Amino acid sequence: MAPRGPRGAFFGERGMRDISEALAALDAEATAALESAADEAALEQVRVRYLGRKGALAAILRALVDLDPAQRPAIGKCANDVKQRLEAALTARREALLAAARSAAESAHVDVTLPGRPIPMGRLHPSTQILRRICQIFADMGFQIYRSPDVETEEMNFELLNIPAYHPARDMWDTFYTTEEGILLRTHTSPGQIRAMRESWPHPIRVILPGMCYRYEQITARSEIQFHQVEGLAVGRHVTMTDLKGTLVSFAHRMFGAERRARFRASHFPFTEPSAEMDVECILCEGAGCALCKQTGWLEILGCGMVHPTVLQNGGYDPMAYSGFAFGMGPERITMLKHRIEDIRYFWTNDLRFLEQF
Ligand SMILES: [Zn+2]
Repeated sequence: MAPRGPRGAFFGERGMRDISEALAALDAEATAALESAADEAALEQVRVRYLGRKGALAAILRALVDLDPAQRPAIGKCANDVKQRLEAALTARREALLAAARSAAESAHVDVTLPGRPIPMGRLHPSTQILRRICQIFADMGFQIYRSPDVETEEMNFELLNIPAYHPARDMWDTFYTTEEGILLRTHTSPGQIRAMRESWPHPIRVILPGMCYRYEQITARSEIQFHQVEGLAVGRHVTMTDLKGTLVSFAHRMFGAERRARFRASHFPFTEPSAEMDVECILCEGAGCALCKQTGWLEILGCGMVHPTVLQNGGYDPMAYSGFAFGMGPERITMLKHRIEDIRYFWTNDLRFLEQF
């Protein structure tokens, strides 16, 4: 039996066992705390709590003095081992935290001396550019923009525009039909004329109707299955062919230049009477004749005419009291003429080498 000292609890076998257990518990607890320390400050707190001068390990070591001298070396060695192991673990954890912080800083590092990276600038599609230009010119003349749906009824697209089912014009304007009977993708923006008239009656109308049109056609350099059209419509009392010519010549002058001559040729459309096509002087040869104008000196840019009495009536306007003019043009065709683009397919193939030129 070992002698008992003043603090008997740490004497003898029992005291030694208590200290060993306290050391083991401290070892496990401190190791876990070190591992979960997330930063340098937390690590320092752990160090003070377990390894500091007033820490848990120091308290155990102080208790050694009460121990039987014969047992001190073994327990002392054990305590020292724990101390060394915890100090090593502390150093390792500190280094790991430092390395993590360093690599985080490196990945967030910005070198302000590097030259800036160029930001690719987007731009408007050539069709959109020309559409906006056309809308702008007509807006200056008091035309409002009227949007009508791409998906139309057969009645709106054909019948009400004076194109009955037997009309040969239907062959030229084959389109995409939906699975629903009588519903199709519009072949022209003209059905919007009927919608605009029915909405505006009995007030005078001055609108342009820009939008996408569709045709079931062989895709070639000159024809696409989808393209833009800009329709124009003016309805009122005493609207005459003179108004039509004045409006369109004014448009041509602003679009192609004030010195550009324009002419009207008689033509036929089912929804206008009389009908005409408008040409402008070739922008390349200025009338002398070249490949672009097929040696004629003129380029056709749009179709137009006085609104057919039947169409006026279908829109709700009395043809005896009202008259109107209408016109339609293809912005892609105008872009092709302005920039001598030889293939309409470039517009929708999304080739940046083409698009970046505008
Ligand atoms: Zn020419």
